[in-house]
Formats: sequence, structure tokens, C-alpha cells
Amino acid sequence: MKSYNFYAGPAILPEKVLKKAQQAVGNFADMNLSILEISHRSKQFTAVMEEAEELVRSLLNLSDEYAVLFLTGGASSQFYMSAMNLLNKKAAFLDTGTWSAKSIKEAQKFGEIDIVASGKDKAYTYIPKDFNLSPDHEYLHITSNNTIFGTQWHEFPDVDIPLVCDASSDIFSRPLDLSKFGMIYAGAQKNVGPAGTTLVIIRKEMLGKVDRQIPTMLDYNTHIEKKSSFNTPPVFPIYVCMLVFRWLRENGGLEAMEAHNKKKATILYDTLDSSELFYGVVDKADRSLMNVTFKIKDDSLNDAFNQLAEENGCIGVKGHRSVGGFRASIYNAMSVEGIEKLCEVIQNFEAKYA
Ligand code: PMP
Repeated sequence: MKSYNFYAGPAILPEKVLKKAQQAVGNFADMNLSILEISHRSKQFTAVMEEAEELVRSLLNLSDEYAVLFLTGGASSQFYMSAMNLLNKKAAFLDTGTWSAKSIKEAQKFGEIDIVASGKDKAYTYIPKDFNLSPDHEYLHITSNNTIFGTQWHEFPDVDIPLVCDASSDIFSRPLDLSKFGMIYAGAQKNVGPAGTTLVIIRKEMLGKVDRQIPTMLDYNTHIEKKSSFNTPPVFPIYVCMLVFRWLRENGGLEAMEAHNKKKATILYDTLDSSELFYGVVDKADRSLMNVTFKIKDDSLNDAFNQLAEENGCIGVKGHRSVGGFRASIYNAMSVEGIEKLCEVIQNFEAKYA
């Protein structure tokens, strides 16, 4: 039986990428060595790093104003690293869930943070869009897709200060107008590749404006100067990310991905909306195309549904432990076939229990 991977992260990767990665573990670039054992200074790996950066640049139409970095420490390290490098006195943050709350907590260690709006009043089931900024806000931090709650910014806020954005769970799922962003960061393990590297895209003019001393490893300028190889980068994860970027390009780039993602999410949300037993948790306008959160009206049926899903090869649909219910993570590599399978399971379950 085929398994369909609905895990939130680490998450599904394209089959073609996994096959190529397997080959590289055996023999990489005809070196008769494994990708796991080659030097990060070898010309073969330098070529991977360069191609990965080039592909990010072309997929996102990035100009030279932006640096592209592959770092470590997960998106969680970017919560403090971004503030350490960018925040002098005061910044504005939008609180749209667990991950933005964590980013706020870390940034507060480096300056004054105004939480200009929060979705906490309704258990983060919507994106708060009414807020005011003041002239002394140096940037606005947002989380583009809230992995746990299943909300997503569909139109980014129109503000005249730079956006700093945690895009861990929706980067490369749609085209982005980069001109609004001073910085974007994303842990790789959802829509980009395996766990182990974090993509950072930063407008270089954002840097050099803070007064504090920054440890060498935490200074973006270090990694810009050394092309993400100041210390040993995670060679294998970066290689797999590069394969994913190739796959994105071969499959039509980000416009095509957006159409594919919209199609999948529509099929799943329509199934939930026409159900008498299941319901989508978040406001329709803010529904995520990446993480579809839903519940059963009678939650004593949760275990039975989870079991049926697993019996049918739909793995990882359990909601985050902090919110319960269900969550289908349907990143770029999820097929329409996988969505149809999950919808079939939902409908069969409903036929039995509604
Ligand atoms: N931000 C978001 C939106 C996330 O979904 C996650 C991980 N689930 C994180 C940050 C934390 O990422 P990491 O585990 O790479 O530190």
C-alpha cells in the first residue's frame, strides 16, 4: 500500500529528489565517495552550494541587493539572530500563534517589542490585520504561515517599514514580491528539504545598523562574506535542498506551485465544508494552503479517525499536541492523489459515524 505523508515537518519530499539523494549517498558526482563523507571545500560541494543559491535567486527573482544563506540552528535560532542583527531599539511584531510568540520572546532580549496585534483572543483561528505602526518601528515581524493553527497571510500587510518574515512553512509555495521584505527565514524541513539547514534571505542594507557586539557565528555578515561556509555547513541537507530547487524549476516554478497548492487545498477544504461531522477550524479568509487544520464535532471519535487514516496510508494527520484535532500538511510535494485519498477516508468515516 502506498503511504501519503501528511506530517508537518520534517515533511514530504518529492520522490525524484529522494531517489537522487539515495544515489548521492552511494556515489556522489562520480567521485566514488558518498555525499556524506566529502569535504565541504571540495569543488563538487562548492558547485552544489553555488547552484543552490542560484536556484533560490532565480525562483524568487532576487536581485543582488539580497544575500542568500544556508545556516544551522533551525528557524528557532533566527528568532534571536534576526533581532540581534537588526533590532536597535524598537520593532513591531504580529502575534499569530506559537511560533510568533516564540519569536517575540527572543526579540525582547534585544530591544523593545510592540505586539501591534494578536490573534490570541480567538485561539489564533484568524490573522489579525488591523494594527498601527509608529515611525520608530524599525521593522515588522510576521509569520507568513502558522503551521500549528493553519492560518496564512494571503496578502502581506502593506506597510512602509521592512517586513521580517518567518516563512518556515510556506516558502516556495507561491511567488513572493520580495520588495516588501527586509528578511525572510525558513527552517528547511517543511517545504525546502530535510532538517539541518535554515534558509535566510536578507537585504544587505538591513545590516550594520546595530550598536551591539555580535558573536562571529551569529553575525549575518560573517556568513555573507564566507558564502555560508565560515564553518562546516550541513552538506547533505543543503544538497537535498538544491535537488528540491531543481525539482521546483522543472515543475514550472512558483506560479505552477501556487496553482497546484490551491487546487489541493480547495479539494480538501470543500470536502470538510460539505461534511456534517468534520469542520475546518480557522476563518475561511485566512485558511492555510499548507496546513489544513480540522476537527470532528464529536471528539471521542478522534482515535478511530486517526486509525482509519493510518490504515489507508494517510500518515501524520494528528493535530499538534498543543491544539488537538487534525492537521493535514500538504506541502508542495504532496500530490492531488494524496489529497483525494484523504478525502475518501474522511467521506468513508463520515458514512459510518455521522
Ligand atoms: N517557525 C515556524 C512557522 C515553524 O513551523 C517552526 C517549526 N515547526 C519553527 C519556526 C521552528 O523551526 P525549527 O524547528 O527549525 O527551529
